[in-house]
Amino acid sequence: MPSGHRPDIMTEQTPVTQAAAAKVTLPDAQTVTEVRHYTDRLFSFKTTRPASLRFRSGEFVMIGLMGDADPRTGKQKPLLRAYSIASPSWDDELEFYSIKVQDGPLTSKLQHIEPGDEVILRPKPVGTLVHDALLPGKRLWLFATGTGFAPFSSLLRDPQTYEDYDQVIVTHTCRDVAELTYSGEIIEKIRTDELFAELIGAEGLAKLTYYPTTTREESPKMGRVTDLLKSGELFRDLGLAEGMSPDTDRAMVCGSIGLNLDLKEILEGYGLREGANSEPAEYVVEKAFVG
Ligand SMILES: Cc1cc2nc3c(=O)[nH]c(=O)nc-3n(C[C@H](O)[C@H](O)[C@H](O)COP(=O)(O)OP(=O)(O)OC[C@H]3O[C@@H](n4cnc5c(N)ncnc54)[C@H](O)[C@@H]3O)c2cc1C
Repeated sequence: MPSGHRPDIMTEQTPVTQAAAAKVTLPDAQTVTEVRHYTDRLFSFKTTRPASLRFRSGEFVMIGLMGDADPRTGKQKPLLRAYSIASPSWDDELEFYSIKVQDGPLTSKLQHIEPGDEVILRPKPVGTLVHDALLPGKRLWLFATGTGFAPFSSLLRDPQTYEDYDQVIVTHTCRDVAELTYSGEIIEKIRTDELFAELIGAEGLAKLTYYPTTTREESPKMGRVTDLLKSGELFRDLGLAEGMSPDTDRAMVCGSIGLNLDLKEILEGYGLREGANSEPAEYVVEKAFVG
């Protein structure tokens, strides 16, 4: 039987001794190649990519680590959580952008990974923040808060984003300035990477606008994106006519449940309808996390 068809090994393992357990390769294991910490609540990491993994930029997968051994049975089960793939679909490696929840079952451990460690990655990408779920349009808005920037980190490095639209506007809102470091660096990388410039051209690069805002710490632009939209300030800042049109505007939203609901209301107010893979429309939404 090919190793990929061993459901027993895919779901749980029974370490015999500590030494044996240390040598066991995790099910669906990928090796961590790089880790970067931004704040005490945020980090990113890269892993090897399974040769068979195909995904659409913007999708998420389940990743995780082996959980603690059950005190009764001694068995370990994978502890998995949904994670947006932050790297574009053409990249050889996979990148993830993660929160650190100090008492979070997964991220209390995941935040300590180092290059060479293994993480579990279930190679079944899914999600609605994909180009296929939107009807063709002229202007693409990407609205993120916190780690909700992760799927956009993927989409913004996908040449299709610039082929499909005349203008691409990404907003990222966090409480503090340091929490904008990851998105700022990704945008900088996009603007300065020679290979990417060759792919999408100067014309493609000129389509991209980055609009970072903070809600707590003082920064050049403060405020919730919902307030900035409602007041018209965001449009004025970008030199745009106020409002959006279902004829030309498309949007993707990835934030807390509260932000998603508020933005849905605003977008529907402009006449945009929510789309899905099965029925593309003018905007799509995905939770950045549950709770
Ligand atoms: C579709 C989808 C995609 C996701 N993509 C990502 C991603 O790319 N990066 C990422 O870090 N997380 C992402 N998450 C959240 C992720 O699945 C886990 O919740 C997170 O890794 C914390 O896991 P945990 O076991 O440590 O804590 P959990 O028990 O899962 O969460 C504990 C609490 O921490 C808070 N929390 C969890 N995740 C976040 C977060 N990302 N930002 C702010 N607060 C949070 C919530 O209040 C939650 O109730 C995604 C969730 C969904 C549903």
